[in-house]
Amino acid sequence: MILRAAWVAPGDAAPIRDGYVQVLHDRVQAVGALDQAPAPKRREVVVDLGTAVITPGLINPHSHLELGCYAGQLPRGPLWPWLAELIRVRRIGDQVKRETAAAGEFAWRSLQAGVTCVGDASRRNLGWRALADTPIRKVCFVELLSIADQPPRTIAELRAAMHDVAENGLLTAGVSPHAPYTVPAADARAAIQLASALNRPWMIHLAETPEEVAYLSGDISGMPPGLAQAQRNAALPTPSGGVGRYVRGLLSSRPAAGYLAHGNYLADDDIAAIAEAGCAVVYCPRAHAYYGHADHPLERLRAAGVTVAIGTDSPACDNADLSPWRELAQLREAHAALADDDDTLLRFVTVYAAEALGMADRVGALRPGMLADIAAFPLDAPTERPIRALIDAAPDAARVWVGGDEVKLT
Ligand SMILES: [Zn+2]
Repeated sequence: MILRAAWVAPGDAAPIRDGYVQVLHDRVQAVGALDQAPAPKRREVVVDLGTAVITPGLINPHSHLELGCYAGQLPRGPLWPWLAELIRVRRIGDQVKRETAAAGEFAWRSLQAGVTCVGDASRRNLGWRALADTPIRKVCFVELLSIADQPPRTIAELRAAMHDVAENGLLTAGVSPHAPYTVPAADARAAIQLASALNRPWMIHLAETPEEVAYLSGDISGMPPGLAQAQRNAALPTPSGGVGRYVRGLLSSRPAAGYLAHGNYLADDDIAAIAEAGCAVVYCPRAHAYYGHADHPLERLRAAGVTVAIGTDSPACDNADLSPWRELAQLREAHAALADDDDTLLRFVTVYAAEALGMADRVGALRPGMLADIAAFPLDAPTERPIRALIDAAPDAARVWVGGDEVKLT
């Protein structure tokens, strides 16, 4: 199959005007300018996408798709009241049925937005069952939450839950100790070591709020009462030493690829610890604005050599379209220095996002040998700046292929 369009943006190189992508079975065979395209072989399908941009399928490394059913029901503003209300509404009615349906629905929404690969965390290990037959590539992160009233709460329960996940060509299991304020440091470390032993990706929420950062230095006074009570009930040890020390302890074994979600509040030494550890950070610009956080240390992380990727977080933060283009539009507003850097902006949702998920050798760029995960987005008009035009207009994908197979979007 040969796809051609006004632009091909390979993800790891500058966009090609009048470009083509040749696909053989599930792989990219060739990419380049149309005037150098091979003549189609006999019976080879040629798809002319016209005034459009072909990109690698976009990658959203961080979401909680199952929470999409609570979109519009949770308060804008600081994380803690949002979290308290989330815990309350989750307990109403048939949580499993509702959240399983939401995970499937929002995986399809992702495909419509041009996302062909998602990193999805699920509280009760529902996500993989909900998504197993959905034709999107996914890392299903099994969440360890020690203070919860449902498993997985212990390393043994986490191990069993990981064992339950039936992986397939599109589904990879991952491990997610939830956060330092819900999982003892020793268990978070053991969970990440489990991921490494299984050669699977991991992720943990870190430094999301000022109260969490204070907590990591031993100041528990900012924890909301309900959470503090749950921490006492679970005999969660109080940490000390701050974010940098926590990261060094967590990742000293140099684990397999993984990422820290958010990293909103980081001192320079914390960033040095993350750079030493060699893991990625996933920043979620619209959720960041929704929770009213201070400016994200994106530039300082990048200056220290840390890979930063862009995700959406759950669809319950005024972002239920799950559009990576809209995340990048928000990022441009908050980080003016990157506003004109189209190549980097595209990498945030392709190459760097693949790195965060430990999949950069397979997805995130259109080059020979990579999996043929491809999206095509319509342009309103001819343009010299195709990526800027997509971020401005944030269209849904016109066509999407995952592993060379077209996904029917309607
Ligand atoms: Zn999250």
